[in-house]
Amino acid sequence: MPRETVLALDLEGTLISNAVSQFPRPGLHAFLVFCRDHFERVYLYTAVRDAVGEAIVRTLVCENSAPEWFLDVPFVRWSHDRKDLNHIPNARPCDCLLLDDNRDYVVDDQLAQWIPIAKFEAPYSDTDRELERVQLVIFDRLAQGGLGA
Ligand SMILES: [Mg+2]
Repeated sequence: MPRETVLALDLEGTLISNAVSQFPRPGLHAFLVFCRDHFERVYLYTAVRDAVGEAIVRTLVCENSAPEWFLDVPFVRWSHDRKDLNHIPNARPCDCLLLDDNRDYVVDDQLAQWIPIAKFEAPYSDTDRELERVQLVIFDRLAQGGLGA
């Protein structure tokens, strides 16, 4: 039986605006605290190059938009084709969830592991509540024990 204990997070359009403007999405800090509390492992799964991604993470922590531990979140290594959950070490795809705004990155037979989120895009409203909404979606899913309901 799957245990959904691993969470992979997209960066651009999901947690922040994009790698250029790097606006944190409203509620980011609280959402990341939730992620840490509810998953054994958290990864970043992003098309942004590692060096740029690491700089963004440092800025978010520096600005207190993300907790300190976010500095240590590993990046999933991948071919930049699809975000195949098989690239996450020591986990089966059924153990993982992927939070992403872009369905095109999701492997077709892993759609059940995808948590969709609306893209965070201009005008980057401060009233965006997507992270709070997906937190509830994830919470409910975990409460159902990964039964695929
Ligand atoms: Mg994205």
